[in-house]
Amino acid sequence: MLDIRQIPVLSDNYVYLIREPTSGAVAVVDPAVTDEILAEADKLGWRITHILNTHHHSDHIGGNEAIKAKTGCTIVGPAHDPDRIPGMDIQVKDGDTYVFGAESAHVFFVPGHTRGHIAYWFKDSDALFCGDTMFSIGCGRLFEGTPQQMWTSLSRLRALPPATRIYCAHEYTESNVRFAVSIDPGNATLRAYEAEVKAKRARKEPTVPSTLKLERAANPFLRADDANLQAAMAMTGQDPVAVFAEIRRRKDVF
Ligand code: ZN
Ligand code: FE
Repeated sequence: MLDIRQIPVLSDNYVYLIREPTSGAVAVVDPAVTDEILAEADKLGWRITHILNTHHHSDHIGGNEAIKAKTGCTIVGPAHDPDRIPGMDIQVKDGDTYVFGAESAHVFFVPGHTRGHIAYWFKDSDALFCGDTMFSIGCGRLFEGTPQQMWTSLSRLRALPPATRIYCAHEYTESNVRFAVSIDPGNATLRAYEAEVKAKRARKEPTVPSTLKLERAANPFLRADDANLQAAMAMTGQDPVAVFAEIRRRKDVF
């Protein structure tokens, strides 16, 4: 099992340090920054061997070059976006398995937020690092992709085992829940989660990771084909892509 440490940085980003105990391999997932990550690794006595990038945005690659210069680590990132990942050594694409010590990451190409976005699924640890594709009760904005692309990407991630823990890159849950309740007020799982999220945030605790089981029941962006949500939105029987696009549109102006 991976040892996973979550480091809150900037205003609402999560950077992850993950260690595979058999080999001692240590990866930083989406290093937004440098100093805090190096300090945390030092404190743990972990030697950084890898960076895993999901996409090119600055709050995900900001530490790439300085961490590589300091540690000599190998940078792994999307082959789908070869020119926008600083210092990338190894390009991975949809369907690849990247061997990380005694574990391996299954790579999913999940365009929508950006045109090159990927996600890393560590099957043996039930852990998904999905960057800005899926958030707890939300999804990334469509900066470079279409609703069709994002719906396809989320549908593929939705098909992973329900026990999968969702290690997304931002703490956006509280505002996502406020929006979700506005369009899906009768969802009992969502309502129970709303109370849990409020209590956790009042204590300044993270709400991440969540689980895919919870997201499948309560995240509207994974439920564009759900009859109850479609009914609540007065869109019964419509194409899930059109429903998804409408959910995204409403969130953008919420
Ligand atoms: Zn992003
Ligand atoms: Fe981001």
